[in-house]
Amino acid sequence: MSVLPHTVLLIEDNPGDARLIREMLAEDPEERFRLHCADRLSRGLDFLSSEKTGLVLLDLSLPDSHGLDTFVRVFAHAPQIPIIVLTGNDDDRVALSAVQTGAQDYLVKGRLDRELLMRSMQYSIERKRYQEQLERQANYDTLTGLPNRTLLHDRLKQSVFAQRQVRSIAVVFIDIDHFKFVNDSLGHRVGDELLKCVGERLNLMLRDGDTVARLGGDEFVLILNDQTHQDLIFRAMQRICSKVAEPSVIDGKELYVTCSAGISLYPQDGQDVDTLLKNADAAMYRAKEHGRNNFQFYTAEMNEMVNERLALEQSLRQALEREEFTLYYQPKVSLKNGNIVGAEALLRWRHPERGLVLPERFIHLAEETGLIVPIGEWALREACVQNSLWQKEGLHPVTVSVNFSARQFRHDILVKSVSRILAETGLDPSHLEMELTESIIMHDAEAAIATLRELKALGVSLSIDDFGTGYSSLSYLKDLPIDTLKIDRAFVRDITQGQSDDRVLARAIVSLGHSLGLKVIAEGVENKVQLAFLRKHRCDEVQGFYFSKPVPPEEFSKLLRAAKYPREAAESGSQ
Ligand code: C2E
Ligand code: MG
Ligand code: MG
Repeated sequence: MSVLPHTVLLIEDNPGDARLIREMLAEDPEERFRLHCADRLSRGLDFLSSEKTGLVLLDLSLPDSHGLDTFVRVFAHAPQIPIIVLTGNDDDRVALSAVQTGAQDYLVKGRLDRELLMRSMQYSIERKRYQEQLERQANYDTLTGLPNRTLLHDRLKQSVFAQRQVRSIAVVFIDIDHFKFVNDSLGHRVGDELLKCVGERLNLMLRDGDTVARLGGDEFVLILNDQTHQDLIFRAMQRICSKVAEPSVIDGKELYVTCSAGISLYPQDGQDVDTLLKNADAAMYRAKEHGRNNFQFYTAEMNEMVNERLALEQSLRQALEREEFTLYYQPKVSLKNGNIVGAEALLRWRHPERGLVLPERFIHLAEETGLIVPIGEWALREACVQNSLWQKEGLHPVTVSVNFSARQFRHDILVKSVSRILAETGLDPSHLEMELTESIIMHDAEAAIATLRELKALGVSLSIDDFGTGYSSLSYLKDLPIDTLKIDRAFVRDITQGQSDDRVLARAIVSLGHSLGLKVIAEGVENKVQLAFLRKHRCDEVQGFYFSKPVPPEEFSKLLRAAKYPREAAESGSQ
């Protein structure tokens, strides 16, 4: 039995016609309908947006809309509500078009009586309900309520063809591992509950506009729209697979299942729906062959990239405890006297198979996975210990510089861990410098200033690395409690390679730094010409292959023992 009374919205501008219909409905002894009148289309649409409505009676000629267009606008606004069109005596043709477009019925106003109206209304409501039910059955899976294969096809077609510009779409075929075993051993009911649960979880993982469909059995398909970056798909797939693998409680029992997934990408792996699905399916089979509980991309290159990443990530996770990291040191040389005044600590990874790996290959991954926090802490401690050792050996004291990345800088324990490590290693804070990039600081300058002040209060020096490549706001720059600007090596390279205009930048950074009372150092100095230019423009310190590549600590002590680069750096006016 349906809920009574139905709210009926009458959109009609003629007061006489409206009164007539109101009277007819008022005569109904069962009071099946409650009427609301609107005399404009716009008011009718407002009502539909705010009130639950069971039926619309619609006059097609209104002050703010005419003809079939009136119907189309109501239908588009509320496609799930049955609509009966009211016409004058002479426009049956338009009324018929409305019925063909989706109206349930039409009534000619001049020939209306109570019984006809009542019958038409009842019939329209029932017919619409039945249509909706058919549509649901045709488009949705009854067990999970998710879109079925038919709707999946439609949605995927829409995604592919409705694009104004080509954007990447990922089609993901998912199959639950050993589902048959669950079904056979625990019974179909448990199997069904499990499928529902997996469907819900997949649904939760998606963004607006993405689709999860069930194809039948234990097969699900996801459409992930707008996949701008392969890395992001990779991450999303990791999250999805681990979400499915979380235990589900069914009938008070904990069930553990995993899934295998295959991914095809539009446009590169297929231009149409069938090819994309077929290729995602093929990739899924490869995931099964790979031992299940994993995902595979359709193309070999994508898989290589993924497997490479996975392998690197796995070995990175173990690198700390296996003590595979080491620091190399690169001297910083004063242009006043040619002394080595500092050492930048640069991370190296001695990989058991790959040999010495440079930061550019793994720092990014370490940041993404959060591993940079413990690795960075290790590097800081190691650099402090090493600097204390050099001092104990009686070498000329230098400042050691350690690089920090954004993820570390935003970590709330940064200040605590710096002060703890200084205390534990006994290094005088004035012999430690922290290198931070502009983007780390400018990302949230207000918060950064507060953190920088706390660090400064510990007595360490602060330097802005790669200066000139980010977009520092100059107004903030003067408020930052920093000591040093480090000119990015791109500007140093331009001194010899670029047009003469480009030299202006290196020079400008030096004078900007000095006018703010900061020390300026140039990195990436590779030849005499660059050195001479920097000295001429009063840069304070230099660092680069011209003096030394980054070297292991023992070699750095040898450099320190030699103490000076007298010829190249200190002699003034020799060029
Ligand atoms: P960076 O801090 O700007 O370090 C300078 C980079 O320039 C180093 O690369 C160094 O080897 C290289 N370099 C030095 N002199 C020259 C030269 O004359 N010419 C050229 N072309 N390059 C020179 P490296 O060691 O590969 O490090 C790359 C980046 O990795 C560093 O850039 C830094 O941002 C990051 N990094 C290194 N160690 C750490 C660390 O312990 N923690 C964090 N968070 N990042 C680190
Ligand atoms: Mg640096
Ligand atoms: Mg740098």
